[in-house]
Amino acid sequence: MSDQFTAIRQQVLRRVRYAANALALRDNSLPPEGPYDAALTNGLIAIVVYEWPGREIKNENRGIVKSGRELLTLIEASGGLFCVQADVLRDGLALTQPVRHGRADDEFAVILPTHVNAIELLDEHPALNFLDSAQGKTIDESIWLAFRDLAESRLPFDPKERFDVPEPEVCDTCLRPTFLPSGWDMFGGTMTGGECLACGDERSDEDALEEAINEAIIGAVERDD
Ligand SMILES: [Zn+2]
Repeated sequence: MSDQFTAIRQQVLRRVRYAANALALRDNSLPPEGPYDAALTNGLIAIVVYEWPGREIKNENRGIVKSGRELLTLIEASGGLFCVQADVLRDGLALTQPVRHGRADDEFAVILPTHVNAIELLDEHPALNFLDSAQGKTIDESIWLAFRDLAESRLPFDPKERFDVPEPEVCDTCLRPTFLPSGWDMFGGTMTGGECLACGDERSDEDALEEAINEAIIGAVERDD
């Protein structure tokens, strides 16, 4: 498995983790400090990776990723983004920290609607844009949707061109809906060469042709029975 595919999977999972935690925060269904922190961190890393790839890393040698506070500083220093209310988000971190570390000394709400709104505003960024999709879904359903979204994003944008390209399929190796066949085989199916976007598994044209012929023979035998 190459780093390229690890990075792709990480970015998909950040989207899901951001959205699931932002929704838990909005619905007040869990104590807010965990979802706030997880939504903020995953959301900010996804945004920084999208805007300035590589700048999310704090320590090149050990691959340590910057903290939420450091990512906010980086975004501000890079000119800011309309969907990142750095001051409000930083304030939220300061409020949740004592609770996350077991130092709360009263029960009053630590997170206010302004903080929840600032978390939801992150969703306006194209690296995220997943709150509506994750609404009412389980985590597993959200992960599936986010991988399918990734695969569909690689299809041609033009509807006419898109018509000439098969839909993404389930990968035989990682079972995610991210395998892109390159076209159609001689029997009108999609047993052609291709590659999985999530794990990098490849099917060669030769292997695909052999498989397509085998499938056609099995199909013919079954029809004869
Ligand atoms: Zn795969």
